Amino acid sequence: MHTKKITKTMSVCPHCDCVCSPVDHLFENKYGGDTSWYCDGCGGKYKIEYDSSKKCLISPLDEWKIDIAVVMKYQDIFVVVKGVAFAEGSRGNFDDSNFPYYYNEHTCPVNWMRVECLYDSKTENGDPHGLFEYVGYEVYPDGGQDCNFDWATLINRVNNNGD
Ligand SMILES: [Zn+2]
Repeated sequence: MHTKKITKTMSVCPHCDCVCSPVDHLFENKYGGDTSWYCDGCGGKYKIEYDSSKKCLISPLDEWKIDIAVVMKYQDIFVVVKGVAFAEGSRGNFDDSNFPYYYNEHTCPVNWMRVECLYDSKTENGDPHGLFEYVGYEVYPDGGQDCNFDWATLINRVNNNGD
């Protein structure tokens, strides 16, 4: 056994100071350039301009990625999946009008459920889009990843809103 020291270059989010995103791959072409990123901490977007000497200029953009808790149902069974919305100007300024289409018809439920397969033996359908019906959403709750979070209250609130 031995140790190996690995050095990573990380960007610092200009919105919240989170050191969340590795940027070493930006320097692989050695030409420099620019790109943009969404912070894993606060969801704020920022521009990264870089050169071949690994110097970066990072500036905030007024765009946001917002985590949302999407409630779906099949008969009396509800599931909550983590989704995202994108906003400009302020965090609440996002368009949710395509969410029913996106979750009912567009996206394979296997992707949001992280299971290997969903299979309807009656129709022999191994890709049952539309199996779960979109009910509505809320902004993803702080602490929602805790297994003690009260998801039933969130589900009932969304279900009763008819969002
Ligand atoms: Zn941030």
